[in-house]
Amino acid sequence: MNVNEFRAEAHKMADRIADYYENISEYPVKSQVMPGEIIAQLPVSPPEHPESMTNIMADFERIIMPGITHWQSPAFHAFFPANSSYPSVLAEMLTAALGQQGMIWETSPAAAELEERVMEWLREMCGLPSNWTGVIQDTASASTLAALLTAREKATGFRINEEGFTSSDKLRIYCSTETHSSIEKAVKIAGFGRKNLVKIAVDQDFALIPEELEKAIMKDKNAGFLPVCVIGSIGTTGSTAVDPIEKIGKICSAYGIWFHVDAAFSGTALILPEMHHFANGLEYADSYVFNPHKWMFTNFDASAYFVRDPEMLIRTFEILPEYLKTKTRGQVNDYRDWGVALGRRFRALKLWFVIRSFGVDGIKEKLRKHISLAQWLAGKVLKSEEFELMAPVTFSLVCFRWRPGGIDDEEKLNELNQRLLNDLNASGKLYLTHTKLNGKYVLRMVSAQTYVEMEHIEAAWKLIGEMAEKINLSGIR
Ligand SMILES: *Cc1c(COP(=O)(O)O)cnc(C)c1O
Repeated sequence: MNVNEFRAEAHKMADRIADYYENISEYPVKSQVMPGEIIAQLPVSPPEHPESMTNIMADFERIIMPGITHWQSPAFHAFFPANSSYPSVLAEMLTAALGQQGMIWETSPAAAELEERVMEWLREMCGLPSNWTGVIQDTASASTLAALLTAREKATGFRINEEGFTSSDKLRIYCSTETHSSIEKAVKIAGFGRKNLVKIAVDQDFALIPEELEKAIMKDKNAGFLPVCVIGSIGTTGSTAVDPIEKIGKICSAYGIWFHVDAAFSGTALILPEMHHFANGLEYADSYVFNPHKWMFTNFDASAYFVRDPEMLIRTFEILPEYLKTKTRGQVNDYRDWGVALGRRFRALKLWFVIRSFGVDGIKEKLRKHISLAQWLAGKVLKSEEFELMAPVTFSLVCFRWRPGGIDDEEKLNELNQRLLNDLNASGKLYLTHTKLNGKYVLRMVSAQTYVEMEHIEAAWKLIGEMAEKINLSGIR
């Protein structure tokens, strides 16, 4: 491909992308293909000879598109969103074109300095403590791993980095029973061992009980364990429950334990003044993560990781081979020392585009809309005799279940809701996922997709009612 061909293809591609967004509601939200259906259509070996873009794009439409689950559809209510937006897509085009690898300042000064500035913007937008320093990681999982590794090194005087674990190390990590699986994964990777992850009970709103945390810490200390880190959540994945951050923070500070806060999805809501009370106590945190790639209209991946003391982070990850020694070291941020990967994508550009194109006001407006849509849906569930609300609606997630008149058998209810979820997703008209709360099968419906409107939520609620009625009539219950 030469540059003239590239120019022509790029124009066509821009049209293809705009067409996609314009007609996105015509695709089944959740891909309807069967396992193996895509790979069976792909040649076993790569082509020997060059192929035309016309052929490649034809196969893209024919083979790839049917296997796409449409995360950018306004009828996508599953998991948490991985939002994109028009300005974010435009920035990604440039990112791909520039092909930056920002491992150190010198390899891309603009990437390093823009990252520093947009992280300050995010800190200010969210009202986070002004003495925090931010760095972009690929995911919340990687951010939490960085937090656990730094906590480990701080607690052991940087000994594990040098010597590895010894049999006398008895290190403990704490989180609630509702925290995200990435905590357990990071505990395994960081070498603590899953058995040393202590899961603390939650209250009726699925928030960690601080008294139980303190009891567990004291018990462990008496048994000769060293408590290293507590992970609190602002917005759990199951139900967006918020742990009592201030109380946990005070316990951590009293016992000298690292406090990491995972706000992967809900953290974006802190931009709203009326939501900012959830940040109370964050000044006790040592590290904090939220994902603009979830609810801040910036396409995957872009995870905002903040630390109180960047020196601890850098000391944990630092390496200095001869070929990476530069004159500017010490004057600028060499982000390769701020996380696991050496090579780094230019992720700050899309954040810059999104924040400037929406404006902070534009972001607030969208967040408020999404929250009000969830409130509307929660109101419908509450008023309905056939459905019940299963958790407080704090942000833009509604947890509910179908409970047709008179059924008390929990197993039967789990079965019915599973059936309802399958039927809804098979319709291709929307996509929901589920969780279990207190052992009960619960449907989760998120109203936080970038371009979701009232009409989509209304249509979803209507469809949910109709599908439930159909199951009713089929005599299954
Ligand atoms: C989504 C989520 C994560 C994981 O996010 P990744 O960026 O995909 O690693 C972690 N914690 C919570 C609370 C989440 O909702």
